[in-house]
Amino acid sequence: MDIFSNVSRYPMIPFEEAWHIVEAQARPLTPERLPLEQLAGLVLAEEVFAVDDWPPFPATTMDGYALRTADGLMPRRIIGEREAGRAEEARLTEGTCLRIMTGAPLPEGADAVLAVEEAEEKEGTMIPRHAAHPGENIRPIGADVRAGSRVLAAGVTLGPAEIGLLASLNRGEALVYRRPRVAILTTGDEVVPPGQPLGPGQIPNSNAPALAAAVTLHGGSVALVEHVPDKAPALRQALKRAVNVADIVLTSGGVSMGTRDLIKPLLEELGTVHFGRVAIKPGKPLTFATVGWTYVLGLPGNPVSSLVMFEMVVRPLMRILAGHRAIHRPKVQARLRHAVRHEPDRLEFQRARLTLEGNTWWAETTGSQISSRLLSLAGANALLCIPRGVGDVPPGATVEAIRLDLPETEISA
Ligand code: AMP
Ligand code: MG
Repeated sequence: MDIFSNVSRYPMIPFEEAWHIVEAQARPLTPERLPLEQLAGLVLAEEVFAVDDWPPFPATTMDGYALRTADGLMPRRIIGEREAGRAEEARLTEGTCLRIMTGAPLPEGADAVLAVEEAEEKEGTMIPRHAAHPGENIRPIGADVRAGSRVLAAGVTLGPAEIGLLASLNRGEALVYRRPRVAILTTGDEVVPPGQPLGPGQIPNSNAPALAAAVTLHGGSVALVEHVPDKAPALRQALKRAVNVADIVLTSGGVSMGTRDLIKPLLEELGTVHFGRVAIKPGKPLTFATVGWTYVLGLPGNPVSSLVMFEMVVRPLMRILAGHRAIHRPKVQARLRHAVRHEPDRLEFQRARLTLEGNTWWAETTGSQISSRLLSLAGANALLCIPRGVGDVPPGATVEAIRLDLPETEISA
């Protein structure tokens, strides 16, 4: 093992290559049938066709009187009343009408409904103010959905309207990609649960709650959160447990070059490490492995690094597993309000705030970009991408910015 050597045996690869390696491994989860209550935000994995016409019967869209238009302006004898949900035998003959409530089926013989405000009622008789035209205030069979038509395409994200549609087709469930299960393992002997007195050299565990929040907000389900000491046996056991319950395992810390950085050798032992170093800042020691069918991302321990890597790699991976076609956030060109210092050896994701002035997005830094400083991310609505091969960037220059405040729209090729 070379963990005591100063030279990593993992080649430093460009970010684009790292993402392609992840993308090439990523497969959508096997679709499952889930009940309507669990579908919000999930991707549909089947085409949904209407089996029957909707509505299945001609219904009134108004409270009023079902009548025969052939009787013109003649006063009508009211033969009864029908509320929505009722369909007792009723038949209109010449000179009769039926009081009817919105949503109720039309009685036999009726071809229009006169709205209640268009009529007067006196001693069991209805006097129309106008002669109704055929079809007035009637929603005919199949007016909303035709039997046999495709109502929802596979690949749509299910929101309120889509879920309502499924219910209106009288379905109680749908075939969907379930939420990816994500396990979170934090490491570090110095790291303790937040909210307790700190001993010398100790720091609160901010990655566990931050990553759990990211997983939940981005459509995953948190399968397990565990803090593990920097000891190989404990880490090995924790990794095995996590791999068993999750589609994606996130580890934080322990991927650098220190003597306590055990994640990479353990992943080599348990599965296949696809890369272990990426030419980016923050996130250089980012590690990607597969253990059986589980994806493992070794995130750096620094809080900003782990969240930026979540944003750039874990989130799009989760979206692929969840069946989404739009994987990446939109980008805009933004002009710098100030100079940016940059080492040309790696791609840098700088946290910034964008504001629109006229047609121009202007980018302002959120302050010190040191990767322990979560405040740099807390106020950011964009990640500026300062490319590899570029040095310091002057004020007014244009850079690419990833919009953290917009949902994914880019269709991956
Ligand atoms: P490491 O990647 O383990 O070398 O950790 C890099 C830095 O991140 C160190 O300063 C750690 O103390 C810090 N760190 C590691 N894990 C966490 C965590 N869960 N929460 C907050 N900071 C952490
Ligand atoms: Mg550590």
